Amino acid sequence: MIAAVIAIVSLVGYFRSTTVNAVTGEKQHVGGISPDQEIALGIQAAPQMEQQYGGESQDSEATKLVQDVGAEIAHGSDAAKTPYNFQYHLLADTQTINAFALPGGQVFITQALLKRLKTRGQLAGVLGHETGHVVARHSAQQIAKQQLTQGLTGAAVLASYNSRNGGMGSAAVAALIGQLVTLRFSRQDELQADELGVRFESQAGYDPRAMIGVMQVLKEASGSRTVDFFSTHPNPDNRIDKIKAAIAAEFPNGVPSNLKP
Ligand SMILES: [Zn+2]
Repeated sequence: MIAAVIAIVSLVGYFRSTTVNAVTGEKQHVGGISPDQEIALGIQAAPQMEQQYGGESQDSEATKLVQDVGAEIAHGSDAAKTPYNFQYHLLADTQTINAFALPGGQVFITQALLKRLKTRGQLAGVLGHETGHVVARHSAQQIAKQQLTQGLTGAAVLASYNSRNGGMGSAAVAALIGQLVTLRFSRQDELQADELGVRFESQAGYDPRAMIGVMQVLKEASGSRTVDFFSTHPNPDNRIDKIKAAIAAEFPNGVPSNLKP
């Protein structure tokens, strides 16, 4: 009986708390999670994420490149209209080809992926895609879904989570952070992040066709044994068609010739 009441309350809570995403225009269920909470959770989870991939890179030149291109995306695109605090990190891992995003604006790329990219525009594509996950609030959506399946437990965790004082030390919050670090987005989320990546990178002055180049890089890399990107991202072949469609929708009269490669 009590369990049934809890389930109903959490269901009502989930479907009641609808927000409209200002950038994607989508109606979303984020379970009342605020952007401030997303930012705090992402900052809190970042060290754990970094640890898994060898920590921050010691290569200051490459780190600066990632930060510079990241800043172009964060400030030069619709991402700038969001309350998020974007920070772009280069991770020291030279084996795992991957990139990821935590809620609130923490974005990561491994050195293994960076060294395979051929142009600055391709880097903008990868960072644009990850920035897309943040702007579309994919992590918050996943957390809200987990709250739903866990009854009130997840909601109570976040209610007790105070982003101003950090609200840390709670085992439940630690568990939530652990979930964030290993979170897998849905296929639909990935395709939406590709679309947003195309938009953000062209707004930042890069030719969005660089995103197709990124997919080719990933495809070539799939021959090597350590391509983690594929456990979190759908098959590049399927993505290329959708990316081409997104570019055509963004530029019905063709891609302008003044965009950087
Ligand atoms: Zn992704």
